[in-house]
Amino acid sequence: MSEIENSGYKDMALRLLRDANCQVGDIVRITSKGKTYEGILIPRSELGDAANIIIKMKSGYNVGIVASEKVVVEKIGVGAKPMFASPSLPEQNSALPHIVIMGTGGTIASRVDYRTGAVRSAMSASDLYGVVPELSEVARVDTEIVFSIYSENLTPKNWTILARKVAERISQGVDGVVIAHGTDTMGYTAAALSFALQNLPVPVVFVGSQRSSDRPSSDAATNLIGAVKAAGEAPFAEVGLAMHETISDSVIVVHRGVKARKCHTSRRDTFKSINGFPIAKVLNQEIIMQQDDYKHRDLSRQLVLKPDFCEKVALVKFYPGMDPAVIDFYVNQGFRGILLEGSGLGHVSKVCFDAIKNAIAKGVIVALASQCIWGRVNMNVYDTGRDLLNLGVIPLEDMFPETGLVKLMWVLGQASDLDEAKRLLITDIAGEFTLCTLPQEKIVYGA
Ligand code: GLU
Repeated sequence: MSEIENSGYKDMALRLLRDANCQVGDIVRITSKGKTYEGILIPRSELGDAANIIIKMKSGYNVGIVASEKVVVEKIGVGAKPMFASPSLPEQNSALPHIVIMGTGGTIASRVDYRTGAVRSAMSASDLYGVVPELSEVARVDTEIVFSIYSENLTPKNWTILARKVAERISQGVDGVVIAHGTDTMGYTAAALSFALQNLPVPVVFVGSQRSSDRPSSDAATNLIGAVKAAGEAPFAEVGLAMHETISDSVIVVHRGVKARKCHTSRRDTFKSINGFPIAKVLNQEIIMQQDDYKHRDLSRQLVLKPDFCEKVALVKFYPGMDPAVIDFYVNQGFRGILLEGSGLGHVSKVCFDAIKNAIAKGVIVALASQCIWGRVNMNVYDTGRDLLNLGVIPLEDMFPETGLVKLMWVLGQASDLDEAKRLLITDIAGEFTLCTLPQEKIVYGA
């Protein structure tokens, strides 16, 4: 099958292109309804109309021309097809800390497809090392691709695999682990590994980027260098998440894995520590700790691996007018845990009470975190909160809903009985509970 058959074009469009002997990447002239268009033939996007032939014009814009008997397609040149070639790897300095970068996918491991302008997941962890040669001045780096998946497609099964891989590398004696990950669900995976990897001897640092590594504006290199520096030399031994502190390249901040939340769709400083302070910052290749309360790096410590998660756990957001049948649905489907994302200090409408009561009677753990994100639930203030407590709903203090969900999945993956699961749920495992409520963090996106 030739390349054009694989390009996504069908029927009349495919016939015209085949007859003109065109391949994707060729320069073509298309005449339709008295107009002539010239540009590079690009593949039909998965969501595009199959009847259109798409070319990238000199202006950079893509144009779709509807294929029909009257359309004339000519090949007027063979386009250069630059391919990504893996750069050669920098030399390793044996005096530096030994790090492993594990690739899981996402923008940090992507590059722009020269033909379509779309971003594709394409870089292996060692490609990343190759395109950021400065890493060789920070650490000796091994690389491993664990997955090549956009993070919205990861599931708790991937968390389990990843946790096992990290544990294996740590048992081989590395000084730190960096996990390159898509930012969309990086907070969930960081929370998952915070619970799964206990008593860590060295840091495990997640890193992502908002712009792919081959774009001039990419934040991948600075984030990666900061993450590798922290993994190799920082005094903490916890799961962290390293990204830009602000939109400037100067500071990389390491958030605690259970407190990091993606808060902006596109900014480089998208992650914020919620209800807690970051663990560290990396500024000019120097690590500056941001708090005294952290687990210290100690190579003699034995990692305890607890990688199992129960997937029969749901996150249910309360909203005005919510139908409690949603709760019944999960109970009838055999779910073992429901995390309610309640309003304010920890409330849901009383129309949900019967469904919640029934769920708890059937042995489902019903916990509650606030959709306010910042602050702590306090279910003793209003009647609604007290009624929910009386029904047996478990308040999750200052944990934000995503970490609460991951913890409930983890707890139900560990505990042998319901009492043990409830006990674990309210026990601090990885810094997910902050004892006193912190002042509101100042976020001024767009200011
Ligand atoms: N949605 C993709 C992911 O989370 C790309 C976004 C990103 O990496 O930041 O993997």
